[in-house]
Amino acid sequence: MLLYIDINDACGLKCPTCPKGVRAFPNTSKKMSLTMFSNIVQKGRYDGAYQVGLFNWVEPFLITNLHEYTNIVKMYGLRCEVASTLAVPKIPNLIACLASVDMLWHTVSGHSQSIYDVNHVGGKVSDVFRHMDTIAEAKREGRIQTDVLVRYLKYDYNEHEIGAFKDEATSRGFRFEVLIGTGHPVRMKCDADQETKIASALAAFTSSPIYQRPGTVCPLIFEHVAVNADGDVYTCSALGYHQALRIGSYLDLTREEILYRRYNHPYCNSCNWTRRLATDRENDLLAEAMAARTGRPVAQRTARLSDPDTPSYKDEKGYYLPKDGHRAW
Ligand code: SF4
Repeated sequence: MLLYIDINDACGLKCPTCPKGVRAFPNTSKKMSLTMFSNIVQKGRYDGAYQVGLFNWVEPFLITNLHEYTNIVKMYGLRCEVASTLAVPKIPNLIACLASVDMLWHTVSGHSQSIYDVNHVGGKVSDVFRHMDTIAEAKREGRIQTDVLVRYLKYDYNEHEIGAFKDEATSRGFRFEVLIGTGHPVRMKCDADQETKIASALAAFTSSPIYQRPGTVCPLIFEHVAVNADGDVYTCSALGYHQALRIGSYLDLTREEILYRRYNHPYCNSCNWTRRLATDRENDLLAEAMAARTGRPVAQRTARLSDPDTPSYKDEKGYYLPKDGHRAW
């Protein structure tokens, strides 16, 4: 299981395809304390996390002491990943932070400023390239070993710049992949009023399964646990931090109770995220969650919540398909 922790609650960009970008949940000045973060990572390890990802909906490099948080993850012996646009004018402790980061996911959507800005609204490619240079130099000099993966979000208007960005990435020693974007920054913007959409879906709840065939599960229930800057866990990593999707305080709830509440969240019945067959381990975990709920002892607690993520599929051009299994355009 990957524990996704958003330490802060802000992103400087306004990507129209992202709920945070359209401010479906607002930017605030919240920041998780180092003590709470440490307690969450410690509990995550006990609960079967093998990795902590300091990302979900925010820009982690807006936190000037991010290296103190990544150091804590390594102190607990867990793999640490960070995701960023690198479209931040100044990142004071970039290399100090990456020294304790196993992998950096770097997301872009264009090589020229005019194309980049269509989705990554408000970002400057000059800032992005400057930080890429700094990281490449530190890797060359052996100061960091971070595996850098540049992920190019492809839409219909930016395919012609893939090659140029691939050259920028590979010439610096970074990996490169193309992911078909979800939504569209011009024609299919993310709805800023997600609260209303969620409320309507919950009001229309039916107990008959709509998308979940017997024997299948949504992989996100097992593969990720998303925690926000308040230390609260939410239904999943694919939706924002909306009150109706709040499960409770991560530190106050057992792993079994968190799984029970997430698995049974009524919103899931209206969500068409592609399901897959449940693994034996996941069936065991659900049985443990139910046993804990009904007050029966859990004799042998399953050690891990899941194996690594479900593999993504590629199209005929070698571009990764969106994780939810649906192409929007
Ligand atoms: S079914 Fe949808 S809402 Fe539920 S966990 Fe999966 S992606 Fe999230």
